Amino acid sequence: MSPFLDLPPLTAAGFAAIEDQVAALLHTTADVIVTQGEALLPLEAAIRGAAHPGSTALNIVTGPYGQTFGNWLRDCGVTVVDLAVPFDSAVTAEQVAAALRENPAIDFVSLVHAEAATGNTNPVAGIAAVVREHGALLMLDAVASVAAEPLLTDAWGVDLCVIGGQKAMGGPAGVSAVSVSDRAWERIAANPAAPRRSYLSLLDWKERWTDAGRTVLPHAPAQLEMLALGACLDRIGADGLPVVIARHRAASAATRAGVRALAALTPFVPEDAHAAPVATTLRTPDGLPATALAAELLRLDPTLPVQPGGGALATTMLRLNHYGPAASPATVQGFLTALATVTGTDAGPALAAAEAAWADVLA
Ligand SMILES: *Cc1c(COP(=O)(O)O)cnc(C)c1O
Repeated sequence: MSPFLDLPPLTAAGFAAIEDQVAALLHTTADVIVTQGEALLPLEAAIRGAAHPGSTALNIVTGPYGQTFGNWLRDCGVTVVDLAVPFDSAVTAEQVAAALRENPAIDFVSLVHAEAATGNTNPVAGIAAVVREHGALLMLDAVASVAAEPLLTDAWGVDLCVIGGQKAMGGPAGVSAVSVSDRAWERIAANPAAPRRSYLSLLDWKERWTDAGRTVLPHAPAQLEMLALGACLDRIGADGLPVVIARHRAASAATRAGVRALAALTPFVPEDAHAAPVATTLRTPDGLPATALAAELLRLDPTLPVQPGGGALATTMLRLNHYGPAASPATVQGFLTALATVTGTDAGPALAAAEAAWADVLA
């Protein structure tokens, strides 16, 4: 019999303790609701809860997830102002401020922090400041930034901060979490269309769990995923969050330096300041489709966390996911070595450049 079947049940106190660990990770004193599903669950729950029918939302699109949010917002009967920027760059606080000035009715803003799918990251602190000044609620998708770069939920003024464990945290994909500010709770409670008696209802969890003192779980918890989330939070605590963040930044810097030394491919996100620490994306040259390149790299080394871009980017963008346990020198070295072999170049200078860049970040 599997030893996992003999686990004692996860207690309410254990569940609450994991929520508290998530709150500490997000630097927030707001309520944290751990949701029993993949991160799309709290993202959809936050939007359907906070977006009032007939209201106006600013949806910032810097990658594929922003497109998903826009569709949910429209489903909710919201007038959506899409602010889209090229997927190889970042949105600026000035662009957000201009959109808010042009549309004073905006009362909700959705933003993705880092985009693992395109390899860019947005300057949340400055954007959150202009959103706060306008008086709108800010929802942040921090699934691909948590544990990879600083995430200061309260200091920045993020009202709904959504995370998942499966990227830089190196944890499970089956549970996720959202922090909910007092302002956000007020907005959700005042929304007649907010889900109730529903798997998507944050209010149900607030009433039946958070406000009830977190002593009795309303449903059976996803036991194994919760234990895995607790274990990965313990590991991040033991390593130290700054160390985990530095490892991801180093992996990004080293990959970019190595790739530039190889000169066969170029970073998809040209500006270092816009590059996400969680994944490095590369523009593939004409005649070398990313799908074929990824297959070739995986043939050389099946353990490499590489994949071609999704959708329209499948031919032109290659992605290296250096997150969680893959935020390591071995991943970067393995990738550069395989890339040098496939492109018929000498790996030596790339490996040296990567090593120097890694050391630079940690210095
Ligand atoms: C990975 C990720 C998610 C989670 O979605 P999956 O489709 O399950 O990978 C959500 N948002 C962002 C920005 C992500 O990078």
